Amino acid sequence: MKHVGIDVGGTKCLGVIVDSFGQVVHEVRYPTPHASELIDLLEKMFRELEGETTLGVGVPGLITADGVIKASPNMKGAHNIAVGPELRERLGIAVHVENDATVAAFGEWKSGAAMGARDAVMVTLGTGIGGGIVMGGQLQRGANGFAGEIGHMVIERDGVECPCGRRGCWERYASGSALKMLSGGVDGKEVFEKFHAGDAEATAVVNTFASWIAEGLASLTNICDPEVIVIGGGVIESFATRIDVLEEKFSQSLYSSAMRPHPRLVPASLGEKAGAIGAALLVGEVVG
Ligand SMILES: [Zn+2]
Repeated sequence: MKHVGIDVGGTKCLGVIVDSFGQVVHEVRYPTPHASELIDLLEKMFRELEGETTLGVGVPGLITADGVIKASPNMKGAHNIAVGPELRERLGIAVHVENDATVAAFGEWKSGAAMGARDAVMVTLGTGIGGGIVMGGQLQRGANGFAGEIGHMVIERDGVECPCGRRGCWERYASGSALKMLSGGVDGKEVFEKFHAGDAEATAVVNTFASWIAEGLASLTNICDPEVIVIGGGVIESFATRIDVLEEKFSQSLYSSAMRPHPRLVPASLGEKAGAIGAALLVGEVVG
C-alpha cells in the first residue's frame, strides 16, 4: 500500500508518496498559500500524487485529534480550519492531520536516525524549535494532541519575548534566529564560517549558543530519559564536524553526569522530507 504525506511549511508545501517502508516514490511541491486556500491546495496535491487510500498532513501549530487547525502562529488566518473533516468529505478517504514537528519526529523514528529506539526525543532547531517525543515505543501526543511543544519550555523567566506570547522560551535562545541575537546581529551562517576557521570571537558565540541548546536538551533528558536525541534543522548542519562542542556542553549540563548513561546526540537523517514522510507513515499506522 502506498501513502501520501504532505508537510505544510512556512514557505512551501512538500507532498510525497511513500511505500510501506517509508521510501519516497514520487514528490511534488507548491508555495504555501493563504490559510483560506490551504484545503484546496491539499486536495489538488493529493490528486496529483495519485495516492491510494490515505492522506497524512503535517501543519505547524496546535492541531486537534480530529484534524482541525486551532492556531498556527506563522500562518495568517489559520484559526479553526477543519482540514481533516473537510478533506475526508471531499476525498472519501482516511485523512490524519498532526503537528508538523510531531510527524517529522515520527518519520525519523520509523525510517530515519531514531529507527529502532524505544525512547527517543526529536528536536528541530530551525527558525524556531519543534519537537516530538517517543516513550516506551509510543509517539506521545498528549491529551489534546499538543504534546512536544518543547521550543516553548521557559528556560529564563522574564527573558526574551516569544511570538507565543510568553517570555524566556527555549527557542528564543537556541534556534537559528536566536544565534543572530547572541552574535549581536551577525548572520548565523557567517558566525559558523568564522567559528570553523578558528576565529576567537565566533568561537565564544558558538560556545554560548551550544550551552543554551545543551540546557534544553538536559531538561528534556531529565523528563524523558531517552536513549537517543535526534537533532534536525539548519543549526545542526552548521555544527557539521564540530558536534563535539555541543556534546561537551550537554555532558556538563546533565544531572549526575558521571553516574548515568548519556543519550546519544545524532543528526537527523531525512532532511526536509522528514515531515512529509512521517505524515504519510503515521496515517498508515493510525488507520491500519
Ligand atoms: Zn514561546
